[in-house]
Amino acid sequence: MAEKRDYYEVLGVDRNAGDEELKKAYRKLAKKYHPDVNPGDETAAEKFKEASEAYSVLSDHDKRARYDQFGHAAFEQGGAGFSDFDFSSSGMGDIFGDLFGDLFGGGASSRRSANGPMRGANVRTAVNITFQEAVFGCTKQIDLNLREPCPTCGGSGAKPGTTPQTCTKCRGTGRIVTTQRSIFGMMQSETVCPDCRGTGKVIRDKCPDCRGTGSVTRRNKLSVDIVPGIDNGMSVRIRDKGEPGINGGPRGDLMVEVRVARDPVFERDDMNIFSTVPISFPVAALGGKVRIRTVDGEVEYDVKAGTQTDTRIRLRGKGVPSIHDRKKRGDHYVTLVVQVPTKLTREQKQALKAYAKASGADV
Ligand SMILES: [Zn+2]
Ligand SMILES: [Zn+2]
Repeated sequence: MAEKRDYYEVLGVDRNAGDEELKKAYRKLAKKYHPDVNPGDETAAEKFKEASEAYSVLSDHDKRARYDQFGHAAFEQGGAGFSDFDFSSSGMGDIFGDLFGDLFGGGASSRRSANGPMRGANVRTAVNITFQEAVFGCTKQIDLNLREPCPTCGGSGAKPGTTPQTCTKCRGTGRIVTTQRSIFGMMQSETVCPDCRGTGKVIRDKCPDCRGTGSVTRRNKLSVDIVPGIDNGMSVRIRDKGEPGINGGPRGDLMVEVRVARDPVFERDDMNIFSTVPISFPVAALGGKVRIRTVDGEVEYDVKAGTQTDTRIRLRGKGVPSIHDRKKRGDHYVTLVVQVPTKLTREQKQALKAYAKASGADV
């Protein structure tokens, strides 16, 4: 806590920055450092936390005034600190709605307005591909269960001939406002109404075909186009194949995570490929040809006379294509390893002994 950076500095804004400017600065940082975008990256996670903390203070007029006057000391009483502050309170819910809309497509996705159209949630699945398929791209068929609006009730969840009623708990707003005590004083937070799950409506007579859920599950066959150069852990988005929207909102998206199998020969780092190729001692010493497996097939390479073991050579343009431009390709680095023979025939032994004698070695 001792060396906390100045909140304005964290967001990279002027001390007179207005609300819009703050929001813009925060969104930029949050997009860059969000844990979903940087899985397993501790530094990014720290930066994301730092930016979120700075934004949560500076976007609140009261807290900003206190911070301007007292600095970080304004929030340090009792050592409570910020480390476990709650993203869902204050105005963070709103900006996250915007942010995730941006990050994962589709605009103001997770923002819920009472009874208004809501975008359906994104659905995640995964597909396995080979190393070669990742390099050159492929099309994969996947089978998955998708929820579709129920044809019997048209997605309302109410038995045909009846209509959903306004929820009495939230009076149709879909939201429950609660006030709670926090380290910043009293804070209001909104939660989704548990009775109507945010829709503002409750169903008395449920549709028999979807049991009031408004959706049914169907088996879908989809083909997923995987671009050349994709790497393990990246996701392909298929628009409008997520959960159905609510109250006429658009469907969410399907995010297909790509899992690339390990290859017995090739390793990959971003756009470059690495492999190891054994060469015999005579080829290393005298020079000669060696066949090297690349993702484009075998190539013949001229080993120079006097090549040492662990010599690394570069096969230009034999790497992975850029995911943005398939004409740009990385390189393939090959480590040549000189093999010492373990089994020798009589003839070979004699030849080697003659060689040893000629070089003055004592064998
Ligand atoms: Zn139904
Ligand atoms: Zn309700």
